[in-house]
Amino acid sequence: PSLCKQRYEFIKQLVSKHKPKKVADLGCADCRLLWILKFCNCIEMLVGLDISEDVMKEKMHVLYPLPGDYLQPTERPLTVILHQGSVAQKDPCMLGFDMVTCIELIEHLEAKELEKFPEVVFGFMSPAMIVISTPNSEFNPLLPTVTLFRHPDHKFEWDQAQFQKWALAAAARYDYTVEFTGLGAPPPGKDVGFCTQIGVFVRKYQKNGEPEAVEKCSEHVYKTIFKAVY
Ligand code: SAM
Repeated sequence: PSLCKQRYEFIKQLVSKHKPKKVADLGCADCRLLWILKFCNCIEMLVGLDISEDVMKEKMHVLYPLPGDYLQPTERPLTVILHQGSVAQKDPCMLGFDMVTCIELIEHLEAKELEKFPEVVFGFMSPAMIVISTPNSEFNPLLPTVTLFRHPDHKFEWDQAQFQKWALAAAARYDYTVEFTGLGAPPPGKDVGFCTQIGVFVRKYQKNGEPEAVEKCSEHVYKTIFKAVY
């Protein structure tokens, strides 16, 4: 399977294991991961966020309930929402999540946005679990067509030490643990690490529900472009 599919599969496995009820995908692009997660029965709230309304709109119709969803209603409620907005901005609609995924997102952020990212995602949203994936630049020499970056829109690509330093600093600052893993093993003898590097962050402290929403009450800045209630 492609690396892209492997990343979605990795998230699906994590969801099966940890059974989050509220999941948000940041930089959800064409909603492909959301579409896969729609079939995970533990999830009751599925939210996508992307800066580009156009890229989300391309395929968001796949998120509408199917006729069968009405003919055979399941016991669990499911709400799917898409917001247009930036991960560099706080919006109270992102509070109270159990899992937040950022798949191949951070390398698309401008320096200013990247600087804000930990405060928004770890500090403000502060979900129980955060998964961040990004290219491992040490693998690039093994990719025949890659010159500088794997994609023209990438603002940077980090080696393992750079990613781990950044991730460990965010984890320490916002009270998370982090474990590193990856997908796409290098060929034998090439000790460069995985093609995609992944950090799985787990919040160290317990949070109790609703009061934070009031406490952290800030203005809504995201624009909701899709909502389906099953
Ligand atoms: N997560 C998707 C996946 O794994 O298939 C694709 C990620 S795509 C490579 C990066 C996405 O991040 C793009 O859809 C882009 O519009 C979005 N993006 C870039 N800057 C953003 C920001 N500041 N806030 C939210 N999304 C952003």
